[in-house]
Amino acid sequence: MGGRDALWKADNLQLMKIRKGDQVKIISGNDKGKTARVTAVFPEQGRIAAADLNVKKKHVRPRRQGDKGELVAMPASFPASRAMLVCPSCGKAVRIGYRKDESGNVRICKKCSAIV
Ligand SMILES: [Zn+2]
Repeated sequence: MGGRDALWKADNLQLMKIRKGDQVKIISGNDKGKTARVTAVFPEQGRIAAADLNVKKKHVRPRRQGDKGELVAMPASFPASRAMLVCPSCGKAVRIGYRKDESGNVRICKKCSAIV
């Protein structure tokens, strides 16, 4: 009982090591190799959105007669597992670890051990 739930939550936590404002490198998909800043995280879906990545053009219909429709570019979300954090300290795409600190858990770069 509850075992599967707990596992699912742990999985989700893994994915959500990435936070809003992080610089990430895309490791798979159409935007592979690109770096971008995370603009939104959706922990429930395990997805993130980043500026200028996976931009979908959306046609907005005119609301009144005579108005022009608009093309609005919106970054669509993508699975967080496609992105890796770019460490601000060593500049590489890295895995994130955690360390206990006086202030609680802090994120650390697994390559250079800097707090990120
Ligand atoms: Zn680092």
